[in-house]
Amino acid sequence: MQTDEEPSFRDSVDLMVNRAMRLMDLSPGLEQKIRVCNSTYIVRFGVRLRGKIETFTGYRSVHSEHMEPVKGGIRYALSVNQDEVEALAALMTYKCALVETPFGGSKGGLCIDPRAWEEHELEQITRRFAYELIKRNLIHPAQNVPAPDMGTGEREMAWIADQYTRMNTTDINSRACVTGKPPHAGGIQGRVEATGRGVQYALRVFFRYPEDTAKAGLSGGLEGKRVIVQGLGNVGYHAAKFLSEEDGCIITAVIERDGALHDDRGLCIEDIRQWMVKRGSIKGYPSAAYTEDGSALLEAACDILIPAALEGVIHMGNAPRIKAPLIIEAANGPITFGADEILREKGVVIIPDMYANAGGVTVSYFEWVKNLSHIRFGRMQRRAEEARSLLLVEELERLSADKGLGWTLTEDFKDRFLTGSDELALVRSGLDDTMRTAYQAMRAVWHGRDDVNDLRTAAYIVSIDRVAKAYRSKGL
Ligand code: GLU
Repeated sequence: MQTDEEPSFRDSVDLMVNRAMRLMDLSPGLEQKIRVCNSTYIVRFGVRLRGKIETFTGYRSVHSEHMEPVKGGIRYALSVNQDEVEALAALMTYKCALVETPFGGSKGGLCIDPRAWEEHELEQITRRFAYELIKRNLIHPAQNVPAPDMGTGEREMAWIADQYTRMNTTDINSRACVTGKPPHAGGIQGRVEATGRGVQYALRVFFRYPEDTAKAGLSGGLEGKRVIVQGLGNVGYHAAKFLSEEDGCIITAVIERDGALHDDRGLCIEDIRQWMVKRGSIKGYPSAAYTEDGSALLEAACDILIPAALEGVIHMGNAPRIKAPLIIEAANGPITFGADEILREKGVVIIPDMYANAGGVTVSYFEWVKNLSHIRFGRMQRRAEEARSLLLVEELERLSADKGLGWTLTEDFKDRFLTGSDELALVRSGLDDTMRTAYQAMRAVWHGRDDVNDLRTAAYIVSIDRVAKAYRSKGL
């Protein structure tokens, strides 16, 4: 557990921001404007459930409106509180600026244990919470666009979108009021996997630069790297699945809330996930060793550690014992400010949350654009692209036959070349491009300045600079 001496999550984010701001040339007034959280709305509402009235507390915090709409998920957990929602809203501001999604930062939360309620009850609660936020334009296609976060997913987003539509029957853009919806309700292909996919792309970019991997004392590519994943929720599951199935990483341990599974030869993520979905726990999984004290495995030897669950899991108490030379923050805020100092001192390279998990909001941006343009990506171009490719293949084959050149195009090449990009392919391509571009911006500061020794500070410098420019052009 985190010790009492550590700052709160919100303060931890501010301390990280301050560290970057000290290296920048901003007026103290502008620094303050960027740092503060613009507003936090707290609502307490009652819902009649199981014969009595239950009162729930919900939050929607807006950190920065330098661009609108503001963006950020809605979390359902008993641990939700104002400090946490504000910290997460601030992270959204910096994240959106870093990956150039044209949004300000926001976040929401509802104090609830989603597992304690039936589906129809959760729908009632979600609709009521959404009603409170919609009434105040805290859910709105042009002002504030929520998305899934811990404890919420496509189902909740569909209810929110429907609630907004019921209350705004003539708004032609109503579907753009929330992202992370299921495809049949205006969602986009690839949104569910997006955050995990982004973690994979981030690691691929990192391993493309031998100087960068050398800073973590690593070499070569992702193939054969030993990985420990904490949290097998949507983000951890997809990241671990893609890294092991597509990049040759060996997942040596998976840490969950009720213990950890480990096997030095590598775990089958899909198999474990199926087990968890069926049994609600990793306990009893037959094909790996089980340890009750999962947090001990955070400290086990590996090449890459992926915290993909809650904030504050790496703190001053356990940071000195962490052995991973490279940590990628798939969760928001998994490393406290104090732990970050300890790890940097030890030479651990940290790929920071605001970059590492930005795949979610990036694909949310694509979904929002899709909703506003009212057309699926690729619908106009796909067959035209295929027709042009076919023209080229046929011409090559004709030339070869006419001139007796004996060229043959392999069936595999033809298959791939003749397939036009569908929505999923375009989403992945856009995400890949986003992750590469943002990494290069961060890297230029990391390598280009003598006073910047870590990727987090570099990321903050890039994003704060962009937010500052936006405020300046607004006349501040
Ligand atoms: N909740 C996710 C995050 O923390 C996604 C936010 C979004 O898509 O707007 O980045």
